[in-house]
Amino acid sequence: MANIVLFGPPGAGKGTQAEILKEKYNLVHISTGDVFRYNIKNETELGNLAKSYMDKGQLVPDEVTIAMLQSEVEKNEDAKGFIFDGFPRTEAQAVALKNFLETKDQDVDAMVALEVEDEVLVERLLERGKTSGRKDDANEEVVRNRIKVYYNETAILKDYYEKQDKYYGVDGVGSIEEITDRLSSVFNHFID
Ligand code: ADP
Repeated sequence: MANIVLFGPPGAGKGTQAEILKEKYNLVHISTGDVFRYNIKNETELGNLAKSYMDKGQLVPDEVTIAMLQSEVEKNEDAKGFIFDGFPRTEAQAVALKNFLETKDQDVDAMVALEVEDEVLVERLLERGKTSGRKDDANEEVVRNRIKVYYNETAILKDYYEKQDKYYGVDGVGSIEEITDRLSSVFNHFID
């Protein structure tokens, strides 16, 4: 069983790489952003709540996000392992994930981070916004706010996992294949 957190700022390429790596390693990919967007599209109660935060580039409250993440994990009892994408994003979420996995005699094995500089991120997100239909990608102010939230609330998780010797930084600039190769060299340590 492998539990890998795929980490990095908005626009770093987590979603693209997770789609490739889940096939390659036969893991279940849980993207909190995707689950929220699915709920927004289907106008669920969770979706309506999440939307008010997401449209402004803010984080959805921890309590809501943690409960959702747990229920997604529970849906996949037979999984060989998970790629967590977009979670944890706060220290409270990281602690909750640890406690939750502990109830299953498991732990996070590694945080693998895609490192990309800010101006490249803004460019990528605004470019994606032209076609993705994602409201939070279309507006430069919202994009910059997401990056700010990342530095204020999420980036500290690097320290959190570094202290446990679980942090692996990977250069997130290059071709999709190059980056998959870099990530794979870390994934190979944890998955047979
Ligand atoms: P990106 O990484 O490109 O910002 P995501 O699809 O991962 O995009 O997330 C989009 C939005 O969904 C975030 O800006 C936030 O509002 C919400 N969200 C996703 N994951 C979390 C989380 N773990 N905690 C709180 N909010 C989240």
